[in-house]
Amino acid sequence: MSAKKVNKIAVLTSGGDAPGMNAAIRAVVRTSIYHGLEVFGVARGYSGMIDDDIVPMDSKSVGNIIQRGGTILKTARCMEFFEPAGRKIAYENLSKRGINGIVVIGGDGSFKGAQKFSNEFDIPCIGIPGTIDKDIAGSDFTIGFDTAVNTAVEAIDKIRDTADAHDRLFVVEVMGRDAGYIALHSGIATGAENILIPESKTDMEAMIASLTEKGKRKKLVNLVVVAEGDEYGGGNKVGAILKERLPDADIRVCILGHIQRGGSPSCLDRLIASRMGYHAVECLINGDFNVMVGIEDNKMKLTPLDLAIKAKQNISEEWLKIVKILAS
Ligand code: ADP
Repeated sequence: MSAKKVNKIAVLTSGGDAPGMNAAIRAVVRTSIYHGLEVFGVARGYSGMIDDDIVPMDSKSVGNIIQRGGTILKTARCMEFFEPAGRKIAYENLSKRGINGIVVIGGDGSFKGAQKFSNEFDIPCIGIPGTIDKDIAGSDFTIGFDTAVNTAVEAIDKIRDTADAHDRLFVVEVMGRDAGYIALHSGIATGAENILIPESKTDMEAMIASLTEKGKRKKLVNLVVVAEGDEYGGGNKVGAILKERLPDADIRVCILGHIQRGGSPSCLDRLIASRMGYHAVECLINGDFNVMVGIEDNKMKLTPLDLAIKAKQNISEEWLKIVKILAS
């Protein structure tokens, strides 16, 4: 990696969108300007690098966005970036502007792309974890998780009201194809009876036995929170099994879906996005290249991109035990 001073940087949001990405863009742009760096915004993730959709940004271009969900730069999944030829075009478009540092706000897929890119070309990349799934090692938080989980909690509380009015059992599916954090956090916070997540094996027979027993003692309101990627294949499939096995119960399924991605970011997401954006630029200035900027124990933590990609956060068994004990 060259020892050249980074003086022109590009920022992009890539992969799945997450509330708080705008706050991170704002922090990157304003910190860059503070340090006298030129800063460019890339539209639609790696697609904008390949299509040459790269525009200079100033302090004003990130005004009035800290509270907005989505991302002003837009985001995308870009198949051409998987190919060396696509990444070469992307590099040419950056280098013709003299851009010599990149900040990628996204999930582990986006970091894989950044890692490959910085290995192939002499251009340092910094990752900021922006994903509602919280499935990245090296950070207690990822931008968007707190907002998404609060959206899920608000929705599940409402479902509980109607479940209570009718004595119904509700199966609620929340997002998380590979990670159960939204299910686990929202399920505990709403008092769910069962939480089904990809990281742990579901004992369907035990769950049915427990719901049957609760039915006998007239515990009529039951909430089962299911991550979309649990081993049974999400809320509809779990609902179908329960309807078949518990024919006397009044069972409904609710898929929360994309509302979990939208909305104004929570205070926590705005704060971590601001801190991570600020530190990402500091990393480029200080020569801490090809790292992800995370927060652990309320301190900034830098994790090499290759480690952030490989390692996953583990779900603690203690949490799963808490669910069982508190829902009895
Ligand atoms: P996320 O960043 O939310 O995990 P994706 O997994 O869809 O989202 O990745 C976002 C984009 O990052 C992909 O569309 C692609 O452009 C790029 N990318 C992901 N994995 C790789 C890879 N192995 N090599 C090159 N680019 C990649």
